[in-house]
Amino acid sequence: MTTPLEPQPAGPGPAAQPTETSELREIARQVAEKRYAPHVEQWDRDRTVIAHDERRYLGSLGWLGIALPEEYGGAGGTFAEALTVVEELAKVWPPAAFQVFEANVGPAQHLVRLGTEEQRRRFLPGVISGDNAMAIGISEPDAGSAATDMVTRAEIKGDTVVVRGLKRWISNGGDADRYLVYCRMNDVPGARGIGAVIVEADRKGVSFGARERLMGFRGLPSADVILDDVEIPVENIVVRPPDGFRDLFSMFSIERLGNTTMSLALGQAALDKTIAYVQEREQFGRPIAEFQAVQVTLADMLLEVESVRMLRDRAVAGLDAGTPSTLHVSLAKCAANEMAKRVTDMAMMLHGANGYTEEYGLERMHRDAHGWALAGGTPDIQRTRIASELLGRSFDQRPARKATADGREA
Ligand SMILES: Cc1cc2nc3c(=O)[nH]c(=O)nc-3n(C[C@H](O)[C@H](O)[C@H](O)COP(=O)(O)OP(=O)(O)OC[C@H]3O[C@@H](n4cnc5c(N)ncnc54)[C@H](O)[C@@H]3O)c2cc1C
Repeated sequence: MTTPLEPQPAGPGPAAQPTETSELREIARQVAEKRYAPHVEQWDRDRTVIAHDERRYLGSLGWLGIALPEEYGGAGGTFAEALTVVEELAKVWPPAAFQVFEANVGPAQHLVRLGTEEQRRRFLPGVISGDNAMAIGISEPDAGSAATDMVTRAEIKGDTVVVRGLKRWISNGGDADRYLVYCRMNDVPGARGIGAVIVEADRKGVSFGARERLMGFRGLPSADVILDDVEIPVENIVVRPPDGFRDLFSMFSIERLGNTTMSLALGQAALDKTIAYVQEREQFGRPIAEFQAVQVTLADMLLEVESVRMLRDRAVAGLDAGTPSTLHVSLAKCAANEMAKRVTDMAMMLHGANGYTEEYGLERMHRDAHGWALAGGTPDIQRTRIASELLGRSFDQRPARKATADGREA
C-alpha cells in the first residue's frame, strides 16, 4: 500500500534557491502538519509506504536537491538547510523525511564527491526530481557491525562487471531504482579489497526478498537485495580498492548526520507534545506540570534534546565548512540515538495510559528511535570510533589471526 494523497500543484521547482533557514523550516513544518499529520496514525498501522508521486512532490518543492549541485538540477545549498527540512518532516512523518535525507546526504551525495562526471549526469537529475530513488547496500547476513567482512563480489570482465551477493536490511529495498552496492573487488581481505558500484533495479539478476516486518520504520520498506550474477557496465564503478572503502566511510559520515537528525526530530517532537500535555492534563485538581517530579523529567528531556542539537549542529557546521570531523559525527550520532530512545520513553510515561496508545503517536516514535540506533552503526560502534579518535589510534576488533607453519595468516 502507498500513500493515497492527491497530486498537488508543483512548488517552486527543483532549481529553486534555498530560502533563509527559518523560512524553510516554517514551510516544511506546514507541509508536514497539513499534508501528513492527519494520516500518520493510519499509515503506520497499515505499514503504508510513501508513493512515488509523493516523492516527486517533494522533488517539485526542490527539497530533494537542496544540498546537491546546481548543474544537475539541485540548489547548491548547505547540509544545514537540507537537514532543517529533514527534521521538520521527521517530526511528523519520517518516511517523507527519509526521501529528503537519502537524496541530500545519502548515496547521491556519494556520487557528487566520489563518482564520475558521467555518473553524476546519468543519476543525479532523477534523484533531484523524485523520479528515481537511490538506496545504499552495505550490510549482509554475516557482515553487520563488521562491514569489512562483506562477501558480495564484483568481478571485472572486460567492459562488464559481474556482481554476486546478498545485501540485508536495505532501507527502500525493492522500492528504490538504483543501489549503491559496497562490494569486494579483489582477493585482498578486509577494507582494502572493497569498492562500490551502482546496480540498477531493472538489471537481469536483481531480485528482492520479502518486505521485513520491522518493529518501527513501518512506512519505509526494508528488504534483502539479491544480486545473482548481475552484469553492469564498468562505467557503474564508483570507487575501487585499495582506498575505496576509506573514501566511502568518510562519505558515510555525512549519511550519519541524516540519521542523527531523524533521532533529534523524534526527541524534539516527543518533548513538544509533552510540554503541551503536562499543562493540559489535570490530576489531584491541578495540571500535572505543577508536580515537581514532572518538572524534573521535563527538564531532563530538554537537557537531552538541546545537548544533541548542539552536538549535531557542530558536526553539520564542520561539514558545511569543509572540515568534517569523525569524532564530532560519532559523538552526535551516538548521543542522538540514545537520547531519542530515552526521551520518547519519558514522554510516554508523562502521558500515562494515553502515551501507551497508537493515537498519541509516542509509541511509534519510540519504536522508530530503536531503528535509528541500529541503522548506520550502533551507538557502541560509534563509541569504539570515539575512543579511537580520542586516543589517536585504532583498535583491531578482531582476534589475532593464527600464523601457519609457512608464516602466512590462517
Ligand atoms: C531500521 C534499519 C535500517 C537499516 N538500513 C540499512 C541500509 O539502508 N543499508 C544497509 O546496508 N544496512 C542497513 N541497516 C543495517 C545496519 O547497518 C546494521 O543492522 C548495523 O550495522 C548492525 O549490524 P547487525 O544488525 O548485524 O548487528 P551486529 O553487528 O550483529 O551487532 C549486534 C550487537 O553487537 C554489538 N557489537 C558488534 N561488534 C561490536 C564491537 N566490536 N564492539 C562493541 N559492540 C559490538 C553491536 O553494537 C550490537 O549491539 C539497517 C538496519 C536497521 C535496523
